[in-house]
Amino acid sequence: MRVEIITIGDELLVGQTIDTNSAYMAQGLNSVGLEVHQITTVSDKKDHILEALAAAEQRVDVVLITGGLGPTKDDITKHTLCTYFDTTLEMNEEILGRIVAFFTSIGREMLEVNRQQAALPKACVPLENLRGTAAGMWFERNDTVFVSMPGVPHEMKGLMDNQVIPRLKERFNTREIAHLSIMTQGVGESYLAEMIADWADSLPAMGISLAYLPSAGTLKLRLSKYGENGNTGLMTELRQKAEELVKEIPTIAYGYNEESLEEVVGQLLTERGETLSTAESCTGGLIAKFITSVPGSSAYFEGSVVSYSNRIKHAFLDVSESDLHEHGAVSKEVVEQMALGVRTKMNTTWSIATSGIAGPTGGSEEKPVGTVWLAVAGPQGIVSRKFMMGNDRRGNIKRSALSALNMLRIEILKEPFVN
Ligand code: AMP
Ligand code: MG
Repeated sequence: MRVEIITIGDELLVGQTIDTNSAYMAQGLNSVGLEVHQITTVSDKKDHILEALAAAEQRVDVVLITGGLGPTKDDITKHTLCTYFDTTLEMNEEILGRIVAFFTSIGREMLEVNRQQAALPKACVPLENLRGTAAGMWFERNDTVFVSMPGVPHEMKGLMDNQVIPRLKERFNTREIAHLSIMTQGVGESYLAEMIADWADSLPAMGISLAYLPSAGTLKLRLSKYGENGNTGLMTELRQKAEELVKEIPTIAYGYNEESLEEVVGQLLTERGETLSTAESCTGGLIAKFITSVPGSSAYFEGSVVSYSNRIKHAFLDVSESDLHEHGAVSKEVVEQMALGVRTKMNTTWSIATSGIAGPTGGSEEKPVGTVWLAVAGPQGIVSRKFMMGNDRRGNIKRSALSALNMLRIEILKEPFVN
């Protein structure tokens, strides 16, 4: 049972409107175990739309279409569907009644173009649109279902949730699907793939598929499994398999689903009644921003010194002037003194410090752009690490912040804690 999505609109092809409809529809279909085979975007041209419909009909069982149902002349989907299904328009009195009521309710005059929206192809089953005037249309031919919906995202969503998904579930024997993501930080996609090769090789035999979803600084591993309708054990299977991996790579895997490092760190600090401060140079306060975006962070976060200049590193954090001079700001000596300085000044259990060359300029042969030193100080002393990142300033800053949070997480977990 396969589905295809066709989005219609010149504005999509010139990049003026981003096609968010496809993503929403694909998510909805996936959640009931319906597999999307292809997504196609076409212009508001009759031939182009007809060609896309015919091609999709060859490939799949369900074709979902959005766009081109507005009342204006450029919207030609309805007429094109009449051609495709060899049918004509007919005034639908029930839909007309709803459109009249809609305009009365918003106190606006109804125009002839709005009246024409109630003229629908004879061959379709109209789907009620509670959020606008363009009805959805359900067609069936030779075992293929076609559904046309308006392009306005809010209206499409209403139709998808209230009409299309329930009807597809009824019409086709849909499957159960479960997704579970493992959040990781610290290694790239190809490196991680090699590290976890044995575990990943064991998945297909269990009917589990694995996807790598990278974004700046973190990498999400998404596990998916399909099952028969009514199979409620899928998530348990995924969780067991995921926990197996998390145990194997505890310094890299930090959480599940959309969990963030700042949430995980926040939870650890809350449980332990411990506190944190940061001294940020190259990250410019981003770590503090991440941490304070978590509700309840005031219980464990004391504050941050954005110590960008050498003068402030010395004056506020007691970094030695001779070390700054001798080793430079981006050095093990300096980042460690920053961490110790802020931990002492703010009297916290833990502290994080960052110092690096975010780029794109400012590098040297000895310390190229992307050189970053990170340090974490805690009850047992201090650890620091040098990272070599890329040329992209924003990416370097974000990766530095996330790497530092993960370093802190690892150090906290090393520390014995008895409640
Ligand atoms: P239409 O049904 O073609 O009149 O579309 C109405 C409005 O919905 C357009 O002006 C776009 O702003 C928006 N729209 C159309 N298609 C999409 C899409 N695939 N994703 C997001 N917005 C869309
Ligand atoms: Mg349009």
